[in-house]
Order: sequence, then structure tokens, then C-alpha cells
Amino acid sequence: MTSQFMWITLAMLVGVLMGLYLAVLMRAGKTKRTFQQLNHRYFKGLNYLLNDESDKAIDVFIQLAETSQETFEPQLALGNLYRRKGEVDRAIKLHQALIAQAELPERYRTRALLAIGKDYMSAGLLDRAEVLFSELVEIEAHTPEALQSLVEIYQQEQDWLQAIKSASRFQSATNRNMQTPIGHYYCELADLSLHQGDNEQAEKYLASALRVDDKSVRAHLICAKLNQSDQQWQAAIEEYQSAKAADSSFIPLFINELADCYLALGQGEQLEREMLQWIETYNGVSPVLTLASYYAKEKGDVYATEFLTEQLNNRASFKGLNALIELNEVELNQLSNDFAYFNVIKNLIDKLLKNKPKLRCRKCGFGAKSLHWQCPSCKNWGVVKPIYGLESE
Ligand SMILES: [Zn+2]
Repeated sequence: MTSQFMWITLAMLVGVLMGLYLAVLMRAGKTKRTFQQLNHRYFKGLNYLLNDESDKAIDVFIQLAETSQETFEPQLALGNLYRRKGEVDRAIKLHQALIAQAELPERYRTRALLAIGKDYMSAGLLDRAEVLFSELVEIEAHTPEALQSLVEIYQQEQDWLQAIKSASRFQSATNRNMQTPIGHYYCELADLSLHQGDNEQAEKYLASALRVDDKSVRAHLICAKLNQSDQQWQAAIEEYQSAKAADSSFIPLFINELADCYLALGQGEQLEREMLQWIETYNGVSPVLTLASYYAKEKGDVYATEFLTEQLNNRASFKGLNALIELNEVELNQLSNDFAYFNVIKNLIDKLLKNKPKLRCRKCGFGAKSLHWQCPSCKNWGVVKPIYGLESE
């Protein structure tokens, strides 16, 4: 939305609110003098707004906010509009002026506090916002909104223990399911412990993550990696299988590690059996590529090429085509010498696979080349997943 259009919308909204407010005043039987005074000041402010004189307009509205309770609703809404327009300083001034009113009823004060808290968040003043939202939770006013904002703040500050606390309270207060984010907060803590070399603590956090969310792919994958680094291959395989059972769309992210575990145990045949089962039910190309790579080592390039060619007839994939080219590099290099255009095709596939995002957020469409457990755009957890289709998985 352009700035000018935003202001016209803003001014129109103020006008509508003004009309409502005048009607309320008249019905309430206010004295003619009070009515005229407020009427005059409000239209003065509105006029400044329409003329794009924000500084003068805000001064008028702040004076009104400090002195008149009757204008609380439109003033609060106007402050929120300032915030949405990115003019956070003005939003804070206006909302603070509302709170400064003498004898402001508690129900108004808490609403203004909530608004200032959101202003502070928009301004990046997280500490101040945290104090206000905590106060609201303490006095049980606007608890769900305050808790939701606290969760956002603690996520931004990466204070995962506090995030778990607030998200759990939010879940109890609203009955909204917070299992997925809470599971990820525990995984964040596990990652931090691993980074500090405290595997024992990491395992405790992972157990908590799985207690809260037994379908946490991320927790299963961290457990699998821990087992793998301890050479506990069978335990690692079971964790990868649990991750697949929880959400098979993450398969491309761990299938190579799973294959490594089977091969470390000398269980190539089990790997082959499992991949053939996955190929039956899973749409992506990863199990085909993993099995082709296993066949190339165990049964030779010709066998692997035949298998891959047959599979690619059923599931067209540039990744598969690329694997086919790599398997037959020697012959194809000869072909490149004879037919120059073949190099063009090969380079094109290389570029296509290199430049495309491999993952996409299922909520907002954000494209990524590497894994983000929290979408950088919409901030949802566990929604950035491998892309399926011709050019990807
Ligand atoms: Zn997203």
C-alpha cells in the first residue's frame, strides 16, 4: 500500500470513528459546549491528517487523548494505525497520552498497555515490551494476547526456556495446540547443549521434546545423529525410521545418513529392501537415487543405470537425470566430444539444480536452499520442507 493511500485510508477511518464518537456523545447528552470543543479539536486534527501534516495532527490528538476519556476508542485505533504505518514513535506517544489520563478506568488502562507493548515490539524495544506483557499476565488482563506476544519476544531473544513457559501457559489459556513450537524450543536447547559439549543435557531436552511432540522429526534426527556419532548404528536407523514415520516429506534430508548406517553394519540387503518399500509408497526420487548409488557400488554401473532408467520412466526428475549422467560419465564425455550440444544440456541441468531453492515453506511459500526449522518469513515451525516435482525431489 502506498504511503498516500495509507494516509487517505487512515483519515477516512478517523472520520468514521469521529462520526460514531459524536453520535455517542449526543446520545449521552453531553453539554453543547463540551460537544463543540471536542468537535472543533477533533476536526482540527483530522484536517492536519488530510493535509499530511502528521506532526501537527499528532499534537492535537495527544492533547485530546490526555484530556478526554470519551475519545479513547478512536485514539487507540489511530495509535494502532500509526504503528502499522511504521510510525512507531507517534503510536507510542499517542498510547502513552491515553494512559496518562487521570482516573482512567482499569479496563481502558490495560488495553492501552497492550497497545504500547505492541508498539515497543515494533520498535524492537523487546525488554520494555516484555515488562508490559508480563504485567498484563500477572494481573490476568488480555492474558492470551499478552502470552502470545511474550512467546514472540522470547523466540526473538532465543530465550527458549521462557518461550516454553509462555507457550505452555498460552496453550492452557486458549486450548490452542502449541506442541510443535514447544517441541522445537526443546530441540533448540538440545542443539545449544550439544554445541557446549553437554550431550547428557541434550538428551534430556530431546526426551522432553519427544514427550511434548512425539512426531518431532527434528528431535528424532538429532537423536539419530547422536547415535551415529557414537557408532550406535542400529539405534540411529530406528531414529531415522521414526523421523520418516512422523513426516515422510523430510526423507531427502536424512536418507544418505540412513544408508551410511546400514552400510556400516554391513546390512546392504536390508537397505535395498527398505528402499524398495519406500519407492512403492513415496513420490520423491531420493530412495531411487540412494538405491542406484548402492547398486553402482555393489553390482556395477550398468546394473545401476538400468535400474535408474526404468525408475525414471515412472518419475521424471532432473536430479535423477543428473545421477544418470554421473553414472555414465566416461561414455557421455565421449558423446560430448562428438556432439557439442550435449555439453549445453549437461550445463543447463547443472545450473537448474544449483540455482533452484530446494525447500519451500508450506505456509507462506518462502523458498530456501538450506533447512530452516523456523520459517524466516512467516515464523511458523517445521513448515519449510523439501520441494517435490520435476526440478526437485
Ligand atoms: Zn513461511
